[in-house]
Amino acid sequence: MSDLATQLAKLDGHLARFRDKGILNLIDGQDVPGAGGVFETNSPVDESLIAPVARGTAADIDRAAKAAKAAFPAWAAMPGDQRKAILHRIADLIEARAEEIALCECWDTGQAWRFMSKAALRGAENFRFFADLAPSARDGQSLPTRDHLNVTTRKPIGPVGVITPWNTPFMLSTWKIAPALAAGCTVVHKPAEFSPLSARLLAEICHEAGLPPGVLNLVNGLGEEAGKALTEHPDIKAIAFVGESRTGSMIMRQGAETLKRVHFELGGKNPVVVFDDADLERALDAVIFMIYSLNGERCTSSSRLLVQDTIAEKFHAMLVSRVNNIKVGHPLDPATEIGPLIHKTHFDKVTSYVEIGHQDGASLAAGGNRVGDKGWFIRPTLFTNARSDMRIAQEEVFGPFLTSLTFKDESEALAIANSTAYGLTGYIWTNDLTRAMRFSDALEAGMIWVNSENVRHLPTPFGGVKASGIGRDGGDWSFEFYMEQKNTAFALGQHKIQRLGA
Ligand code: NAD
Repeated sequence: MSDLATQLAKLDGHLARFRDKGILNLIDGQDVPGAGGVFETNSPVDESLIAPVARGTAADIDRAAKAAKAAFPAWAAMPGDQRKAILHRIADLIEARAEEIALCECWDTGQAWRFMSKAALRGAENFRFFADLAPSARDGQSLPTRDHLNVTTRKPIGPVGVITPWNTPFMLSTWKIAPALAAGCTVVHKPAEFSPLSARLLAEICHEAGLPPGVLNLVNGLGEEAGKALTEHPDIKAIAFVGESRTGSMIMRQGAETLKRVHFELGGKNPVVVFDDADLERALDAVIFMIYSLNGERCTSSSRLLVQDTIAEKFHAMLVSRVNNIKVGHPLDPATEIGPLIHKTHFDKVTSYVEIGHQDGASLAAGGNRVGDKGWFIRPTLFTNARSDMRIAQEEVFGPFLTSLTFKDESEALAIANSTAYGLTGYIWTNDLTRAMRFSDALEAGMIWVNSENVRHLPTPFGGVKASGIGRDGGDWSFEFYMEQKNTAFALGQHKIQRLGA
């Protein structure tokens, strides 16, 4: 059998039970059908039905929120080293089922195997990283004055809602859920309706690992139905959301009545700036990787190339020949570099930007066309001769779609780089150290890599500025969101107290 045929045979074995039973919600440790019936999840490879999915409504969210509320006191009070042990068991089971998770993820999302096999393991890494921090999550400070000893501690905020998108859904879900559990919060997870499969696997794994019932609850459903109900529920104290900026605005409005704390990881239109003194071969590899890996459906993708005019012609020529060589194909084929886009609606959105690019007057230098007539495959696309005011240079396309602009000097590069509503990441390629420091200091972005692509180090803060987000994940920053600070002042003696009415 070919590599692909072997992969498909294994996938078929894993999917059989979902075809029979559907993808159910998991509330308070129980399999629960959706109060709203079912919706379908289809593969972007050939539009075939993967499974019916429980369509959760406000009633399911209410049940899940109540289960999370009931489970909260015991989970929050559990000693950190016990929570640590459970989270490590979850990581063990993720590793043991990494192949199954990756196969399901590829089929459900269209993401290529070469990236998803690593993303499943990164999910385990997220659990291990936060597991090790669980015993110290409550640690605080001692802030003495002459009269008082101030002692701070942290307490988990309560049951939280986690709402995730469809791009690399497994990895992103673990990135939000692991710190919440490590902090002592209980969780209601509402995954994206386009990619429900791996969230079900995660919930099953967590229970198999010994997570008590009600600590992690899974409710599938539509954003405006189950998602909205979660953001409005009075028992849910905070919402950790990953998705589009305009959905973030809606969630903020929906959560206003119950004063929700929110943490938003939103969209991006991230610049990669290539100066003429850079190592061009390495810059080229990074530029290509950071927009065409993960089908370009990646919040941190460098979707705007800013290249210095002195090297633009040469760099574009190198770029076009490599882009035309990228292998678009079946996501489970280990040789594939780009799989199909998640869904017809998203395919229509991405391809509409090809038309918009033409209308704006930019030059299509590569791709832009559909591949085959089944599934949502598109050739990796490159527009050159773009200007910063064009829609393809301003709006998040979220596909394998790169817009290239040229600049004369550093100040023009900075003005272009900062000219969008977003500010998630930035990438700078130069061998001039002083310029790299000056430029990164002035660049409006939450995360910047110099002479590198997006290489994550979990203790560092992850998040964006402007329309790209609110708050940070990673290391202790995650606990800042999922926990409340408490300060207690102990009087050390007989300090003077004003005596009113004496
Ligand atoms: P989306 O905003 O459409 O959906 C995300 C989630 O929100 C889904 O689960 C959806 O059902 C839910 N939702 C939709 N409407 C809702 C509502 N009114 N109330 C509550 N929940 C609601 O995003 P998407 O299309 O699934 O994902 C792509 C977007 O996610 C892109 O903009 C991308 O940049 C962003 N993203 C950001 C990061 C980051 O870390 N900054 C990471 C990954 C993806």
